[in-house]
Amino acid sequence: MIYPSRIELSKSALRKNINYLKRRIGKKVKFVSVIKGNAYGHGIESYLPLAENCGVDYFAVSDTPEAARAMAVKHPSSHIMIMNMIDNGDIDWAVENEVSYFVFNLERIEKSIEASKKVGKKALVHIEIETGFNRTGLNNSELTEFIEIYKRNSEYLEIEGICTHLAGAESVANYLRIQNQLVKYNQTLHILHDNGVKSKYRHVASSAAALTYAETRMNMVRFGIAQFGFWPSKETRMYNMLSDDAHFTKDPLHRILSWKTTVTSIKHIPAGEFVGYGTSYLTTEPTVAAVIPIGYCHGFSRNLSNLGYVLIKKKKAQVIGMVNMNMLMVNVTHIHGVNRGEDVVLIGRQGRHEITVSSFSDLANYVNYELLVRLSYEIPRIVVD
Ligand SMILES: *Cc1c(COP(=O)(O)O)cnc(C)c1O
Repeated sequence: MIYPSRIELSKSALRKNINYLKRRIGKKVKFVSVIKGNAYGHGIESYLPLAENCGVDYFAVSDTPEAARAMAVKHPSSHIMIMNMIDNGDIDWAVENEVSYFVFNLERIEKSIEASKKVGKKALVHIEIETGFNRTGLNNSELTEFIEIYKRNSEYLEIEGICTHLAGAESVANYLRIQNQLVKYNQTLHILHDNGVKSKYRHVASSAAALTYAETRMNMVRFGIAQFGFWPSKETRMYNMLSDDAHFTKDPLHRILSWKTTVTSIKHIPAGEFVGYGTSYLTTEPTVAAVIPIGYCHGFSRNLSNLGYVLIKKKKAQVIGMVNMNMLMVNVTHIHGVNRGEDVVLIGRQGRHEITVSSFSDLANYVNYELLVRLSYEIPRIVVD
């Protein structure tokens, strides 16, 4: 069956990104690829093996179903870590399969000990500590209780990591809050160490922190958005561009994703006619419109109605009328010889033009993250060179 569109993932671009990011953090820091949100829309099943091929062997997901999808396609030597949701009922499964997971409530620790006794393997846990993000993380009194539990049960628990999450390192507005978080993290780490709680990994950094504050790299970094070729913010990009250790003129990060489809049909519309639903677009001249089989159900935002562009025959064609659930129309009056079946680029490059996810998202008022994860799960992901 032919799907209405496809997403291509560039292996060479990914290899460049991963090599660059690994170079930035150095050999002593473990590279973790964060693949939550269907690998930021890139597709877990296609993306994970590709990343393995580029030298990654440690992946982080948000929940158990994502972990199961990653388990189904990963190499036996790769490791999976769950950062957020694991139901108590799934802890046996995680311990059995040597999947590690964040612990931010004590019930999860009790269940881990039970699971370890049942399964006969140690539970691999990452203790998440509260440092000021105020989302998940064990506070001081919970940590005191945890230390007591751990002392009595250390044969059932392997503390693989001690971690926290920072409150927005992509913006300088959060500088002070993050500095305070780091102080708190290091203090808590000492207390844990003094009480015999030691871990293989210490980690706090996502892409923005790792690329802005070297001291946040500890010995593990959880890279999300940057591996896909996006700077977490314009600020982070500019900081790196101008900094002593990373300055560049040619962007070292490359988008790996392109989104492509084909024209379904061509419509010749006289002047003075409304196009599609409602009255948002009126032709002012005889207009040639191309119908594209993509709509907001695939992740093409309705906010791009009358505003967005696609590329056809190396030229920009503007969306006319409303983006429908699974169709949209573009103006091709100025592009000669567009026929049914013509190639269309929704995100990516064609000739000298490029539709970038961020220009797409500036227009639609979404950040890259949100736009990427909206790309429908059902669109086939294809690996290209
Ligand atoms: C999503 C996430 C990351 C990765 O963040 P990026 O900004 O995409 O690099 C790291 N750690 C945690 C806990 C996350 O949820």
